[in-house]
Amino acid sequence: MAKKLRLGWFTLTCCEDNAIMFVELLNTHFFEWKKQIDFRYCKFLKSKNTFDEFDVALVEGAVSSEREKKRLLDIRSKTKYLVAVGSCAVNGRPSAQRNDFAPELKKVIKPFIKKWKLYDNVLSAKDVVKVDESVDGCPMNEEKFLQVLDKYLVEFKVK
Ligand code: SF4
Repeated sequence: MAKKLRLGWFTLTCCEDNAIMFVELLNTHFFEWKKQIDFRYCKFLKSKNTFDEFDVALVEGAVSSEREKKRLLDIRSKTKYLVAVGSCAVNGRPSAQRNDFAPELKKVIKPFIKKWKLYDNVLSAKDVVKVDESVDGCPMNEEKFLQVLDKYLVEFKVK
């Protein structure tokens, strides 16, 4: 069987618009990527997913709770490369805007922070794990995303 890039797509705190953009990219790349990529974990594409080993893990979303931090550490331990996709993963924003709220506004949101066991301050992916590549933009910069994906397809000799 032809070698494929083992890919995982993971979502933390965000609006999942990067995932939507990725689905849009399938309009033009589906048949090419079908041959090149083993979508091992990608919940918006399939219902049966495998969480074992990845060549590349694409992570969108900020880290806003202990549960998400553990999840990200787990993802990092199973992948050769980790890519932060979209500004929420790259620098925590827009979710991390609440880090800079005035004290009175922080007081207003405190009950929700407690209720959902969230961190007082939202973190980016690189605050928690080593990030190998970043695709900034909100939503992600499509051109940069394709560049990064292409780089790994070549590196893993799939392309
Ligand atoms: S980068 Fe922006 S558009 Fe993309 S998932 Fe994060 S918050 Fe949503």
